[in-house]
Amino acid sequence: MKTIKSAKFLNSAVNFDDYKGFDLPEIVLVGRSNVGKSSIINMVTNNSRLAKVSSVQGKTKLVNFFLVNKEFVLVDLPGYGYAKTSKVEQQRWSSMINSYFAKAKNLKSACLLVDSRHKPTEQDIQMFEYFIYNNIPVTIVATKYDKLKKTERIHKLNEIATSFNVGIQNIYATSSVDNFGKEALVDRIYQFVGEN
Ligand code: GDP
Repeated sequence: MKTIKSAKFLNSAVNFDDYKGFDLPEIVLVGRSNVGKSSIINMVTNNSRLAKVSSVQGKTKLVNFFLVNKEFVLVDLPGYGYAKTSKVEQQRWSSMINSYFAKAKNLKSACLLVDSRHKPTEQDIQMFEYFIYNNIPVTIVATKYDKLKKTERIHKLNEIATSFNVGIQNIYATSSVDNFGKEALVDRIYQFVGEN
């Protein structure tokens, strides 16, 4: 089992024209606004304040980079799919994401976050297919697992697995409230970070 001993904010970016990366493996996190991405970053890094947790949806508009264990870079992509997002904002999001992916030569893997209570959205599926198409190994993380009744948990995870056309063992259930699933997710991330 891997432990995260250190994590710090590196920088934020909107423009990747001059992006050179950090010469370390990168792991990207992406999902719908409010899915619990900041909470997952804080959970994984054992730092309750590293990424801001906000109840205001659609606030994070930058790509944030965090150095973890001095071994890899966690890349926090802005959330998508906020109901009030305008066409212009959606386009801005897409072009920012595309320009990051075009430059991310050290990208090893992605975590796609979905809310365990809901069926994945069209955009979640598109994002998943984008990773598959580009040969980027992707891990599906089902967040807010504590919000599900015990009796509905397996059913909901099965529903998510079916939507992505994968087996249920590929869904990583997490709760940032009680740290459920933390070790499994950290170990999973390290499968892609490798030994350097
Ligand atoms: P982001 O917009 O994807 O970064 O989402 P945040 O991490 O800011 O979380 C959005 C909201 O969901 C906040 O009110 C969090 O407190 C809440 N939240 C996030 N993760 C969990 C979780 O695992 N369980 C519960 N019950 N609430 C969560």
